[in-house]
Parts: sequence; structure tokens; C-alpha cells
Amino acid sequence: MSQSTDTIAAIASAPGAAGVGVLRVSGPAVPAIAHAMLGRAPQPRHAHFAAFRDGAGELIDRGLLLHFPAPTSYTGEHVLELQGHGSAVLLDALLRRVCELGARLARPGEFTERAFLNGKLDLAQAEAVADLIAARSQAGARAALQSMEGVFSRRVEALLQALVALRVHIEAAIDFPEEEIDFLADPAIAARLESLRTGLAELLREAQRGLRLNDGLRVAIVGRPNAGKSSLLNALAGSERAIVTAIPGTTRDVLRESLSLDGIALELADTAGLRDTDDEVEREGVRRAHGELQRTDVVLLVSDAEHAGADLAFFAALPAGVERLVLVNKIDRDLLDAHVESRDGITWLWASAKTGAGLDALRDHLKRLAGAGSGEGAFSARRRHVLALQQVGMHLDRTAAILATTRAGELAAEELRTAQHELGEITGDYSSDDLLGAIFSSFCIGK
Ligand code: GDP
Repeated sequence: MSQSTDTIAAIASAPGAAGVGVLRVSGPAVPAIAHAMLGRAPQPRHAHFAAFRDGAGELIDRGLLLHFPAPTSYTGEHVLELQGHGSAVLLDALLRRVCELGARLARPGEFTERAFLNGKLDLAQAEAVADLIAARSQAGARAALQSMEGVFSRRVEALLQALVALRVHIEAAIDFPEEEIDFLADPAIAARLESLRTGLAELLREAQRGLRLNDGLRVAIVGRPNAGKSSLLNALAGSERAIVTAIPGTTRDVLRESLSLDGIALELADTAGLRDTDDEVEREGVRRAHGELQRTDVVLLVSDAEHAGADLAFFAALPAGVERLVLVNKIDRDLLDAHVESRDGITWLWASAKTGAGLDALRDHLKRLAGAGSGEGAFSARRRHVLALQQVGMHLDRTAAILATTRAGELAAEELRTAQHELGEITGDYSSDDLLGAIFSSFCIGK
């Protein structure tokens, strides 16, 4: 354990007036501070009703004092929690008093950083703490809780162990070059690598779903001008956020709307009609729309019965893995029935943004894509986790290629070593100060 020498303090509750406010302190000075605040040594993990006084003996507030001795605390250090009335003025006075008694102000995320450094949680779990606090949907909060409990980390750990075992096996063979070629041709090695790749692919899929649960499903709405994109966004969002007019090309920028569909977060982006245009402003909008498509989870093409075939051109040059939906809009005008079809990897939905017919099917489909109903074990993930898993996949692919061709043991082992490193970065087995700084500085103060 790497015990810090300084003691940190922060107001852990949200700013503003509230029934109760919480001050948190962690570090070696806690027993002395607790003693001073209570007038005697507190009992571990007991709620003491105390009079909190300033240096001159003046009463600041009355409230609860709790001492969690090291190492059985959130940070792994001595932790003190003072619960007073939720007033910014009183909490500031308490914070000042605690700092006089030897604490300093904590940086954002510093409590959780200490918990990580003391091995109380790994990096993915620490990130999940922040994601839980920031969760915007029930499904997102549930998933973050799973990751905080270590569901994701344990899966990464299991994969890591299998990977290390295979690497050690191959490295052992390198020490006996005369046997190496035959050894690496052993089908058991190929089978172990294959099972690693399958396990990784499964974990990557789940992590991608976890990312959607965490960040919300990103849906880019595209289509020719006047197809009904703004009307659809308004219908889904239930407000008049986008201006709907019958003049082509009015949606000039990318409009964004976050909404929660039954506890699932969606990030909708209404792009300018993607078409060549002479208008300067509109051209900029079109450029942004193209950029949007490189970052989205779903492209929702709004069209109608007449243009849908030709409009499929909007799907050209989409990155792999992007979900494609076609909304055949204006069925009220064209006297068609609302229904859903799936062909060639594209989901077709017949609907009307105007009457609302068929939009429930669209909502259901989006919810499924966003990970709704993904069950008990669904965990949250961050983009850096998904990227790391994709890198690991690339190195495992290369290892397989080496074993299938040159059987150069050194190269295969090197690929596996790099893969191991990438995997270890998820849980923080390997982590740079820059990465830790970036992660913990995005936390709130007091966590
Ligand atoms: P955008 O340019 O793609 O954003 O299209 P708008 O949402 O501005 O809609 C263009 C025109 O089509 C407007 O006059 C809308 O009222 C109309 N419209 C949109 N959806 C429907 C629909 O489902 N049925 C009918 N009949 N008209 C629609």
C-alpha cells in the first residue's frame, strides 16, 4: 500500500442548500482531526453526535462524526466524515477548521485516486464510480454499478491470465530453437489462441454495449431536404427543438437532442440534408454532417416510398459496425401501413413523423440497439476500454497470422506482450501518470 503523507479534505455533497452536507477527510492526520472535532477519540465506524467548533471554541454546527480507520475505508487510509447541515457557509467553515487542523483541499477525484493507488479498486472500477455519479439513465446507472463491483474487470482479468499463459508457453519454446517450429505448429497452441480471440470478441461486443449504456446511443439522422428529419426529431424529443419548414435546406447545422427512452439514453443529431450545395453556410453544415457519420452508432436515414431506393446512397462510406435504419416516412400521405422489415443488414421502418404512426416500433428498435434488456450482468465501459480491446484484437489477429505462416516465435510472443500491455491498461495494471491524471481530473471534487 502506498500511504500518502498528506491529508486531504473536501465537501463531498452537491453545492447549494440541502438538508445534510458532507465533509470528507482522508489521510494520516485524520485521527488527530477527529479527536479535535469530537473532544475525544471516536469509536471506529460509529456515528457520534458532535458539536463542531472553530479554533476559538465557537460553535459552527452540530452533526454526525464518523471515523473509518485505515485500511477498511473507501481510500484505504484513515477517513473522517462530518455530516452537518447542508449550508455552503457552514460547510466552508467546517472545511476551514479541518484545514487548520492539518488537512489540505483535495483535487477532483483525489479520494478515488487514493483508493486506486491503495488497491481498493482498479482503474476500470474507479472510472465506473465517476460514471455512476454521472449516469443519466437507470440502465446506465445499473451498468456502472456492475462495473464498479468489478464485473468488467474480472472479465478482463480472466482474458489477461489466458493471454499470459499462452505467451509464457510460446516464450518457453523460443528457448529451444531447434524445437520451436514444430512446437508452434502444435494444434493445441492454435486452439488456445482461437479461444482467446473468441473470448475477446465477446468481451468487445459487451464493452461496446456498455459504452452505449454509459454514453447513450448516438443516432445521426440523415436524408434529403424535406424528408422529414426535423419533424422526426421533434416527434421523438416531444418538443419544437428543430425548426420545421417546407423550404429545402433549412436545417443548416447539426442539431443535438439528448433523450431518455424508458431509462435508456439517446443522443440524437439531426444533420443538414447531405447534398452538394452552393450556399456557404449550408456547405459547412453538410461538412459537419459527414463528420457526424464517422462517430455515430446508428445512421437513421429518413426518406419516403418514392426516394428510399436512391437515398440508400447515404449509407455509402459508413464505417463498419454502424447500424443502418431506413425510415420510410410520410406513410399518411402515401396511404401505406406502418410496419418493419429487415434485409441486407438494414432495418426498414414505415412510419409517419406527422401522425406518429410506426414511431413506437422505431423507439423499440433504438432501445434494443442501446442495450435495453441486456440483463443483469451488463456492465458499463468507456471509449478507451473499447479502443484497448480493439487493439488487443488486432495483436491477436497478427499472432494468428504468424502462427499460420512463418511461425516466428519471437514475433508471436512480442504481439502477445503488446496485447497484454493493452489489456492491462484497462484495469490499470499498466498506466501512465498522464492517463491517471486525465481520468481522475474529470471526477468531481470530494469523490
Ligand atoms: P427536413 O428538411 O428533412 O428536416 O424536413 P422537415 O421535418 O422540415 O419536413 C419537411 C416537410 O414535410 C414539412 O412540411 C413537414 O410538415 C412535412 N412532413 C414531415 N413528416 C411528414 C409526414 O410523416 N407526413 C406528411 N404528410 N408530411 C410530413
